[in-house]
Amino acid sequence: MADGNSGKADLDRIEALCREILTEEGRQRAGDIAARILDEVAGAREHLHKQTQIIDQIHESVITMDLDGYITSWNRGAERLFGYAAAEAIGRHILFLYADPDEDDEGFQDVFLEHGGRELEVRRRRKSGEVFWASLQLSLVRDPDGYPAGIIGYLTDITARIEAQENQRLHARIFEHTDQGILITDAEQVIVSVNQAFTRITGYSAEEAVGKTPRLMRAGQEDQDFFAEVWRHIHDGGRWQGEIWERRKNGEAYPAWVSIGIVKNARGDVANYFSIFSDITERKESEERIRHLAYYDALTELPNRTLFYKLVDQALTEARRNRLHGALLFIDLNRFKPINDTLGHGVGDRLLQQIGYRFREVLRTEDLVARLGGDEFVVALFDITMREHAGLVAQKLLSALDAPFFIDGHELKVGAAIGISVYPQDGFDTETLLRLADIAMYRAKQTGQDGHAFYSHEMNQRALDRLQTESALRHAIERNELLLHYQPKVDIASGRIVGAEALVRWRHPERGMIPPGDFVPVAEETGLVVRISAWVLEEAVRQAKAWRDAGLPTTKIAINLSARDFSSALPQRVGDTLKNHGLEPDWLELEITESMLMHNTERVIAMMDELAALGVTLALDDFGTGYSSLSYLKRFPIDTLKIDRSFVTGIPADLNDCAIAGAIASMAKRLGHKVIAEGVESENQLAFLRSLGCDEFQGYLFAPPVPPQDFEAMLREDKRLG
Ligand code: C2E
Ligand code: MG
Ligand code: MG
Repeated sequence: MADGNSGKADLDRIEALCREILTEEGRQRAGDIAARILDEVAGAREHLHKQTQIIDQIHESVITMDLDGYITSWNRGAERLFGYAAAEAIGRHILFLYADPDEDDEGFQDVFLEHGGRELEVRRRRKSGEVFWASLQLSLVRDPDGYPAGIIGYLTDITARIEAQENQRLHARIFEHTDQGILITDAEQVIVSVNQAFTRITGYSAEEAVGKTPRLMRAGQEDQDFFAEVWRHIHDGGRWQGEIWERRKNGEAYPAWVSIGIVKNARGDVANYFSIFSDITERKESEERIRHLAYYDALTELPNRTLFYKLVDQALTEARRNRLHGALLFIDLNRFKPINDTLGHGVGDRLLQQIGYRFREVLRTEDLVARLGGDEFVVALFDITMREHAGLVAQKLLSALDAPFFIDGHELKVGAAIGISVYPQDGFDTETLLRLADIAMYRAKQTGQDGHAFYSHEMNQRALDRLQTESALRHAIERNELLLHYQPKVDIASGRIVGAEALVRWRHPERGMIPPGDFVPVAEETGLVVRISAWVLEEAVRQAKAWRDAGLPTTKIAINLSARDFSSALPQRVGDTLKNHGLEPDWLELEITESMLMHNTERVIAMMDELAALGVTLALDDFGTGYSSLSYLKRFPIDTLKIDRSFVTGIPADLNDCAIAGAIASMAKRLGHKVIAEGVESENQLAFLRSLGCDEFQGYLFAPPVPPQDFEAMLREDKRLG
């Protein structure tokens, strides 16, 4: 240190002058030498002052102390750093500045002896009491003979640096030990680092991940639009949070809750992206469990009351929009309580489970069955075509309880009372419908037997009638109560009869002649229709053969088929019947409806091809009321389209009806089908149909359905139009 050296030189000169003054010669010039000494002292003072100033200028604090640790000097920096003025500090032991009184300073001096100095990080206390980290550099001061004379300490406040380091250490610890996976990429989205949780969750080690992009883990559930939206969020708002399906190294996909953020450098450019994520499989599962608990009956796993209301409310909204019918069936078990009371709740619970299971089994998937609690169940039927269907379903549910239940070696039998309310006749909302179904259930219960009851008396009456019709119909065939009427089909061009439709009638011993509309639907629901159709086929073919044998010209006799008849056994049955009677197939036509074509298309086509191969023709009845499309129709071997009566009725006044009839006619032409219009009652209608190019018609204008002998008479006299 230059000034340190000049200080020594000052003292050397003063010492030399002092020695000089002590000599004989010097004593004579004492005044002169003393003046020089004073000069030197002044110079030294000047030097010292400068030195102090320099030391004070030093930002660091500089403290000197003697070898025992007592402070001998204290610069401005020390004043600033500790808050003590020089006067307060000088003379005190250095220990008073220590933050930790037991700070290890053993061997304090030894270090100096060996190395002459050292640097430490220490904690010191300011006058204010505040503790701070300081870098302490100690060096030994030696006297001119080289012996240790004192210590200089330089201190710098390094709190900020230490805190930054601590922070960094803390961050590193958090990064490594958090449960959340973390990955950091550079601005190009290349992964630069990942933590342990990342590896634990994804199965990829740091080595495998670094250098790749996060797409490595995408399960591919989300599309490009999704990620475009994510990136928009990140760039606009600095971050995005949400769910992404990720894939582990082992291929397993899992839902992750991901938070993606952006780190920018001082210039505001993207420096890094980071993504913090956790595997939320469990959370999702427990959410699902909670949802299940909230909406499902824990015992039977059926929807509970809450979910039931929700679903029925939804369905009713739908029904209102599409003008559908629906029904609620309120089921209360009979004889359940004594079982539960005597055999215990364990048995009772399992019985309820099995009952719920059986109910579910007999219903269609779109039907809803819920458990309201106790021994009460409720079934909701949506989109039923007829209100009576609800009664059939009730019967089905009751039959499901017929077979005994076997639980813990007990053979148990239960029954039920079922109350039915119907939408929209009885009520418009779930609450009302459920209440009315409940009332109906009580009514059913009062009979003391298992059974069902409708809420409305009218429905009960209808249900009763239906039941009677059904049982009476079972005997109608054996008792020979069915008969066929024939309605002529007329060729529009020639006006001559070319065929007839056989329409079934039921001569009921008490109720008189019953039209098919009153019993065919019941027969269809119960399956009885198959037997009726078999009878109709047999009877129509027998009759046709008789007419043929009587020498009448070939006249196509058409019979109507139901969906239930349309099974793979049909072609064989038709073929056998024709063969048994020895009738040519060109005498027979089958009328089917569009609905029969809608399901199992391939099977239906195969069946129709078989029928066509027999030489029998096929007509599509009630055409226009279903959903047939042009392209769809092309695939079926159909000969004739029958324009439904509902469109003929409006001709020629209703423009819609005219347009539909026109469209059907031109479409049939293009497909190479014949067109027949049914329900033609007036000359006007006929004229219009003729203008459309219709081939045939059927209707009261020519003749209603008539008994066979009347039709035979028309054939014999060659009755013609006009
Ligand atoms: P469908 O096959 O469309 O039969 C035509 C219906 O229109 C017949 O009613 C017929 O009497 C009636 N009709 C014919 N011309 C006119 C007219 O000019 N004006 C009016 N208002 N009506 C006319 P029906 O005999 O009551 O038969 C009704 C429905 O019952 C038939 O409709 C058919 O779907 C079904 N059906 C009749 N017989 C049988 C059968 O043997 N088996 C099956 N499965 N269903 C049958
Ligand atoms: Mg018909
Ligand atoms: Mg028809």
